[in-house]
Amino acid sequence: MKYFIGNWKMFGVPKSISILHKINAYYSRDKKRNKYKVIITPPYTLIESYSRYFKNKRISLGAQNCYHRDYFSSNTAAISPYMLKSVGAKYTLVGHSDNRGEGDTDVMLKEKVKYAIKNNLKVVFCIGENKKDKNNKKTLSVLKRQLTKVLEKKFNKNNIIVAYEPIWSIGTGKIPTSNELRKTTIYIKKILKAIFKKASPAVLYGGSVDGSNAQMFKEIKEIDGFLIGGASKTSKKFIDIIKNYYR
Ligand code: PEP
Repeated sequence: MKYFIGNWKMFGVPKSISILHKINAYYSRDKKRNKYKVIITPPYTLIESYSRYFKNKRISLGAQNCYHRDYFSSNTAAISPYMLKSVGAKYTLVGHSDNRGEGDTDVMLKEKVKYAIKNNLKVVFCIGENKKDKNNKKTLSVLKRQLTKVLEKKFNKNNIIVAYEPIWSIGTGKIPTSNELRKTTIYIKKILKAIFKKASPAVLYGGSVDGSNAQMFKEIKEIDGFLIGGASKTSKKFIDIIKNYYR
C-alpha cells in the first residue's frame, strides 16, 4: 500500500472542500485505487466538517499536529489527540519540522505519539535533517537520533508511518538524488526494524514532491508514499502526482 498524504499547513476555509471533492472523484474512479491511500491533513478548523462529509468516502482526514497531553487540560489553544479523534481525524502528523522549529522536543514528541495511539489515531512521524547536517554528512546520525529518541517497540508498528522530510527540501524545489534517497530510506528502515524487532513501518518521502518528479521516486521501491505540502493545495497538482506515479 502506498500513501499520498496532503499537508495543507495554514491553508483552507470551509469552501476549500471543493478541492477534496475533485480528488475524491478521481480516487474513486481510478483503476489503481486499491494500490494507494489518500489522506489530507487540513487545519484543525476544518477537520470536523470535512470528516463528516467524507465519512463513508475513500479519502481519510488527519490533523497536522496534536498536543502532548491526553483528554482535556488547561493549556490555552491546545488540541489533544482525544479531541481530534472526537471530530473524525484518523491520523495525525507528529514532529513536522515546522513544529520542531517552534520548540517541540523529543520528550514532547514521545508523549504525542503515545497519546495519539492511545486515542486510536495513526501517527505520521516526521523526521529530517537540515542543510547544515547534510553538508556535515550528519544526515544518518541525525535521523537515527530522531527515531530512537521517540519511537519504541510498545507503540506497535501498525500505528506508525514515518515521513522522511529533509528540511532543506521542504518548499524549495530541491530534492535528494535518487541514490541518496534510496540509501537514506534503506537506513531508516533498518533502524525501524531494530526498534520494532520486526518489519519496518511504512516510510514516506516528503519535500517538494510534484507531478514532474513523481516518476523519479517510483524507481525507489523502498519508498512507501509521499507527504505533500504545496502541491496538495490544488486538486490538479495533487492528482498529477498520483497519475504520474502510476503512469
Ligand atoms: C511539508 O511541509 O510537509 C512538505 C513536504 O512541503 P512541500 O511539499 O511544499 O515541500
